Order: sequence, then structure tokens, then C-alpha cells
Amino acid sequence: MNNIKVIEKIGKNPGKTSVVLAGVHGNEVGNIKLFDRIITTIEISNGKVIFIYANLEAIKEGKRFIGMNLNRAFMKELPEKLSNTLEAKTAREIIPYLNEADFLLDLHASNSMDSKPFIVCEPQSLEFAKSMPCKLITTNWDGFEPGSTEYWMNLQNKIAMGFEGGYLGDSESEKRAEAALMNFLIKAENIEGTIEPTQKKEYLKIIFLYKNKTSPFIKTRDFADFEKMEEKTLVGKEGEKEVYAERGDILIFVRDRKDLNEECFLIAKEMEVKR
Ligand SMILES: [Zn+2]
Repeated sequence: MNNIKVIEKIGKNPGKTSVVLAGVHGNEVGNIKLFDRIITTIEISNGKVIFIYANLEAIKEGKRFIGMNLNRAFMKELPEKLSNTLEAKTAREIIPYLNEADFLLDLHASNSMDSKPFIVCEPQSLEFAKSMPCKLITTNWDGFEPGSTEYWMNLQNKIAMGFEGGYLGDSESEKRAEAALMNFLIKAENIEGTIEPTQKKEYLKIIFLYKNKTSPFIKTRDFADFEKMEEKTLVGKEGEKEVYAERGDILIFVRDRKDLNEECFLIAKEMEVKR
């Protein structure tokens, strides 16, 4: 049974092949609605654009995922207990399209209400990332969170971006995703158009992922995503152990964790990028 729906749109002229994904997390409905709205009418001039609804079962159930996070399933090998999950099979359905693609844009939205839009990419994609309608560009995730769709493209040194459009319950997120998608397709030269100048960018590099090894992790307080620490700060406690961030650290996704070996938070640093 297929767990993806693929719609290929081909331009009159030769050009590059782009893959755009929505529904890698099935509950991020704004991006599904965006696909429903634009795919039938969008005119591709050059090359090919492959639109993929990525996890039909999770989309149908309104869940982030069924068996495992699909955005960690794009690995050459998965641990045995994960390799038969629905998402492991789904990744294997999507991979041939990624292998064919020159460029990838994977659309996401966040569960947290105060989340800011940002790009996930590696350095070879920074030129594309600059044309995205958001301020924050983050790099260096692959070493800490392997198995994303971008990760698979990055293994082949291709252009790949994840776009986090903001809170999934906010209709602005869908509009941001649409702007991101259009700019991406213009940059890829699949469609005609001009990219409006976007905000000045801030570049962040992920440098650390904290996982709890021995006890549940309880955060000290709520941290806004991308909150910069003004001083050395107690982020939380793993059992009796106090876990600190240093001055200048930027915290992302700080969460309480009951189970062991879970992702409790990430640390990023500001990064200089030559213009
Ligand atoms: Zn997502």
C-alpha cells in the first residue's frame, strides 16, 4: 500500500527537478491545504516539480506520525525495531524521488505557539536559503538529528531546505509556506517570477544536543525557541544533576522528558556568513 501521493508537473522547457514535500508530519495541515490549493493551477515553465504528500496515514489520522518520526527515517540503515514501521517504509517510497531531484523543499510547521519561522539547511544550500521569506537560517543539524529528508539530500551534496513556517494552528504559517514555496520554485527556475527582497538574515549553527541518559529531564522554566542566554543559566535538572547553558548559547526546543535518551534541548551559536 502506498503511503504517499505524488503529483508531477512538467514544464515546456528543460530544467531542474525539484521535490516539494508536505505532510512529513501528518498534523501540519496548513501545508496540506496549501498543496490542495495550488497544485492544480500552478504553471511550471522549466524542468519538473514533484509534489509529494508524504505520510497519508498520519495525515488522515491528524497525527504527527504513526510508528516513528518520518523526518528521522531517511537513513541508509535503521535500528531493527524501527525498520518495519510505516514511516520506514514510507521513506523508502520517497527516496527514489529525492535521488532524482536536484533541489528539495520540505514544508513544516511547529506544535509550539510561540515558534518563529526558520530554515534548516547545510552550507551548500545557503544561497537558496537567502531567498526564503524568514529571518532565521539554521545549519549543522545533520550530525545531531540525522535521518531528515534534507539529510538524505545532503549525503549527495544537493540543495535541500526544511522550512518551519511557525505555529501549525496559525493561518499565517500557511501563507509563509506559500511564500517560501514560490520563492523556492523561482530560485530553482521552475517557475517565472521575481523574488521580493527578504529580511536581513541571522545565521545559527547547531553545536549541541542534550539527551537525558539516567533520569527524566525537567526544565527550569519555559524557554522561547531561539532564546539567547544573557548569562550562565540553569536549563533544567536530570534527576539531581543540574544542566546549564553558557552565556551566549541559544536554546531551541527545551522540553520535559520522562523517557530516557530523548532529545531534551539543542544549543545553537550565532554564525558569521559572508554576503
Ligand atoms: Zn514537521
